[in-house]
Amino acid sequence: MLEKELDGIFISQPENRYYLSGFDGSAGYLLITAENAVLATDFRYIEQVKTQAPDYQLFQISGNVPEWFLRLVAELDLKRLGFEAQDITFSVYRQLTEAVSKNKSPLQLVPVDGLIESLRAVKEPEEIELIARAVEITDRAFDHIEDLIRTGMTEMEVAWELEKFQREQGSQTLPFEIIVASGPNSALPHAKPSARKLKAGEPVVIDMGARVGGYCSDFTRTICLGEPDATFRKVYDTVLGAQLTAIALIKEGMNGEEADSFARTVIQEAGYAEAFGHSLGHGVGLAEHEQPRLGPNSKDILTSGMVFSIEPGIYLPGWGGVRIEDLVVIENGGIRVLSKKK
Ligand code: ZN
Ligand code: ZN
Repeated sequence: MLEKELDGIFISQPENRYYLSGFDGSAGYLLITAENAVLATDFRYIEQVKTQAPDYQLFQISGNVPEWFLRLVAELDLKRLGFEAQDITFSVYRQLTEAVSKNKSPLQLVPVDGLIESLRAVKEPEEIELIARAVEITDRAFDHIEDLIRTGMTEMEVAWELEKFQREQGSQTLPFEIIVASGPNSALPHAKPSARKLKAGEPVVIDMGARVGGYCSDFTRTICLGEPDATFRKVYDTVLGAQLTAIALIKEGMNGEEADSFARTVIQEAGYAEAFGHSLGHGVGLAEHEQPRLGPNSKDILTSGMVFSIEPGIYLPGWGGVRIEDLVVIENGGIRVLSKKK
């Protein structure tokens, strides 16, 4: 805040609000200054805030946005208030600026982005512990489905079995819709499970995550029921080689572009440069996708305590795709794989 010459920041992004306050209700804002930490929410959450965020001054929202916002800032003597430009809608922004100018308030709204996100990127040991527990659930879910999966099952049936199992194992609502993509469908990196029946000899991409204490896991395996063809063997070996190379070479202090380059080179040298169209990985925490980004043009510096995915993939339209994804944490200068690697 000092660096940006702000006397306060208005937090609207839900994960940022939870990260800073511990309040996990679905509606609310934080207003933080050097002296004050205020949590603004409506009647439905008043009791919840008292338990989850006892250190915050409670402000009850009522009426329309301009009304309560002016009441909220009135006593704080603010000149420059930062707001999360990537989160506030245009409509709310317009209401706030109109209220401020109509009221002849000296308050200036300053767009800021990534301030809390960059704090969130570096995990405390307690956060890593929760992510590790979510990872354990996805590991067990994969073991479970390996025993059950058969040709003739539909992608949706497999996805439901995985969802049910993870919830029974203690996962909160899943952080994202499970991907089960077979045959040509697996050439779509973010395919939705369909009524397509699994066939022998085809790739099946399974991408899933669990959530424990708000924190996510993210895990992908590609399997083949029956005898894999020569393409599968070559593509699979290339992706696995790319992932293992990245795991061996990524170190603390590199930027996201460098970290991405090791796996990308392996895939390029095998002749699949065009078939790896996404980034190597992304941070995972309260959100399934957060800082840092590991990909071409990413200047994010990898530092101790960051948790992110390493997920190279090769996608061949008409045939299918292979992706392998594990979560890792930067520790002692190098990286440690959180999932049970096999
Ligand atoms: Zn994933
Ligand atoms: Zn991922």
